[in-house]
Amino acid sequence: MKSNIQKLVRNNILNLAPYSSARDEYTGKEGVFLDANENPFGDYNRYPDPDQTELKQRLAEIKKVDAKKIFLGNGSDEVIDLAFRIFCEPNQDKALTFTPTYGMYEVSANINSVELIKLPLNPEFQIDRKTIEPYLLDENLKLIFICSPNNPTGNLIKTDDIKFILDNFGGIVIIDEAYIDFAEQESFIKELENHPNLIISQTLSKAWGLAGLRLGIAVMNEEILSYYKKVKSPYNISSVNQKVALQALSNEKEFQNNVTIILREKSKLIKELQSLKIVRKIYPSDANFILVEVNNANEVYSKLISKQIIIRNRDSVIKNCIRITVGSAEENQKLFNALKLISND
Ligand SMILES: *Cc1c(COP(=O)(O)O)cnc(C)c1O
Repeated sequence: MKSNIQKLVRNNILNLAPYSSARDEYTGKEGVFLDANENPFGDYNRYPDPDQTELKQRLAEIKKVDAKKIFLGNGSDEVIDLAFRIFCEPNQDKALTFTPTYGMYEVSANINSVELIKLPLNPEFQIDRKTIEPYLLDENLKLIFICSPNNPTGNLIKTDDIKFILDNFGGIVIIDEAYIDFAEQESFIKELENHPNLIISQTLSKAWGLAGLRLGIAVMNEEILSYYKKVKSPYNISSVNQKVALQALSNEKEFQNNVTIILREKSKLIKELQSLKIVRKIYPSDANFILVEVNNANEVYSKLISKQIIIRNRDSVIKNCIRITVGSAEENQKLFNALKLISND
C-alpha cells in the first residue's frame, strides 16, 4: 500500500536509486580519506557535508523545529524546482498559484513542462475561495504555491484562507515565507504536524541579509524530505557557504536589530511617500518592500533610473505600480529626495 505522499510522487522518483557518495558510507570525521579522489592539498580540498548537519542544527534552534525536518537548497529556487521534479509528471500534472506573485513558480513550471494555473487575487490581494474550490479536487493538480507575505503586493495572505486550502486539498501545499521575519504573524511551521502535505519555504536572502550565499530553507515532514534528499544534487551547498552561514547565524541579536531598523525605516518611508503628489496609493506591507501606485509608473521608473536609483517597475503586473525595497536610512533619503523632485516637475 502506498502512503498518501507516495501516491503524489512521480513513479520514476519513487523507483530512483539515488547517487551514493563516498561520504554517505562513512560519516566519521577522523580518518585517512582516500575514497573521493580529492586532492590532499589546500583549504577547500574536501567535499562538503552533503547533509549540512551543523548548519541544520543551528537553524533548528532558531526556527524551533526538528533538524530532521529541514532541507537546505541552493536558494529557494532549488526548493521550488525540486517540488516540480518530485511531484509533477511533465505535460500531465499541474500546479497552481495566485497572481500577481513571485515569478519563479512560473519559470520553474515552464522549465519542467508543467501547466501552472494562475488564479487572480481579489482587489485586496487575498485568495478568492470560490475561484479555488473547483480546482482542489483535480487529481492532476499536485502543487499549490501560496506566497505570504506575497511578492510584489507585500501583504500576508489570510490564515483562514490558507487553512481552507490545507483542509481541502490532497496535494502538496508550498507556503513561501521568504519575508516572514518582517511580518507580525507567526510562521506556518507549527501547522506541519496537522498537515503532512505542507512545505514551508524560507530563505536567508532577505531578513538575514545573505542573498549572496544562496541558501533556501524548507521545512517539511520527513517523508517528503526523503524525496528531496534523493533528488537534490549530492553536494548542493558548498563548504564556504555552510561555514559563512554558520558564522552569520551565530549573531541573532544583529539580525533582530537589522530587522527592527528596516521596519522603522519602512514606516518613515511610508509617511514621506504619502506627502507626494505623484503617489496615489500605498498598499499595506508585511515585508521589507512597499508597493506604491503612482500617477505614471513608467515615467517615475525611468526618471529614477536617470538618477541611478533603481526600483522595480511593476506596471506590467499591476497598473502604475512600483515596488520599492526599504534600504538604509541614507538610501531611502536619496530615493525620497529624488521622488520629491520628480513630483514637483
Ligand atoms: C526573494 C524571494 C525568495 C528568495 O529566493 P532565494 O532563492 O532564496 O534567494 C523566495 N521567494 C520569494 C517570494 C521572494 O521574493
